[in-house]
Amino acid sequence: MDLRATRAEINISQFKKNLTVFKNTIGKDKQLCLAVKGNAYGHGLIAMSYHAQGLVDVLAVATVQEGVSIREEGITLPIFVLSSHLEKEISILCRYHLIPMVSHGAFLEQYQYWASYYKMSLPLHLKVDTGMGRAGVMPTEALALAQKINSYPNLSLEGLCTHFATADSDTAFTHKQITLFNQIIQEFREHEINPPSIHAANSAGVLSSSESHFTLVRVGIGAYGYGDHPDLKPVMSLKSKILLEKIIPQGHPVSYDCTWIAPKDTKIGIVPVGYADGYFRALSNKAKVMIDGVLYPVLGKICMDQIVVALPIDGSYLEKDVYLYGDRPDLNAETLAEWAGTISYEIITAVSERVPRIYY
Ligand SMILES: *Cc1c(COP(=O)(O)O)cnc(C)c1O
Repeated sequence: MDLRATRAEINISQFKKNLTVFKNTIGKDKQLCLAVKGNAYGHGLIAMSYHAQGLVDVLAVATVQEGVSIREEGITLPIFVLSSHLEKEISILCRYHLIPMVSHGAFLEQYQYWASYYKMSLPLHLKVDTGMGRAGVMPTEALALAQKINSYPNLSLEGLCTHFATADSDTAFTHKQITLFNQIIQEFREHEINPPSIHAANSAGVLSSSESHFTLVRVGIGAYGYGDHPDLKPVMSLKSKILLEKIIPQGHPVSYDCTWIAPKDTKIGIVPVGYADGYFRALSNKAKVMIDGVLYPVLGKICMDQIVVALPIDGSYLEKDVYLYGDRPDLNAETLAEWAGTISYEIITAVSERVPRIYY
């Protein structure tokens, strides 16, 4: 039972529509991988993994622990672990049938040891750094590493992948990465190394160029509703209620540091949401909230657990619904991201554990 005023409403049918947009974009013969890292971008790791079943071919997490959480719920989809992990996590990785992205050769003995211990063939995906400058083996070292992987009896090179640095900002650079990636694929082929799974694209990559689709795409933000396609709509709406209304006289300050001073007698409303919920302090004196379809400004500093908004003098607003952001084109995570100087990813991923998620 959740009686808290502040809650995140999560629209599962819209989530499924968003996934369908990606399925239709890539076509039937390509695979769809859904990124559920970061608590499924704030939407809830277990719930979103559960609802994605039947619509996606693979789930992707950042950490081994996230993968274990999904497995323990009985989900049997393949799970990629996108980020690097510690050597001591390899036994768990094998035991839970998680698939690592490999950027170096230092753990191959350990992968072999544990794969053999569990009498399994461990699929590995070799990640190549074609320009992201983060994870991935450098292109000149990719072939040697692939050959080394293939020399272990219990390891199988199932995939070859890379990651785009500028899929939503610089298509020329993305194109360069694709060209380099194709050269590596070609080099592998010439040495008779043909991993069945080849992938590069994130959401923006999928939508901007079909050249980037290869055999599988990895989508995150687009599935949650943010991306350049008319049918993608935000899945999560963050809402709360007015829990106190009162009138302050002209000259009275509002919130920590007194950064907002009432220019005239003003009715203020208190909403129980703050940076501990993931409503960023950087939104202080910048954000707006919506009540009955009308925007009202946030006054003064955002606190840990509360914000103050300006209300009309007339009428009662006590316990009225306050829409903080969500599926509206004029008030979504991108709107907040602009106010807070960040990106939609960070806004939605920040919604904290104490905010109840309501799935419908
Ligand atoms: C998070 C992630 C994705 C998904 O990116 P979006 O931009 O959210 O679609 C794809 N690939 C890798 C390696 C990632 O870490």
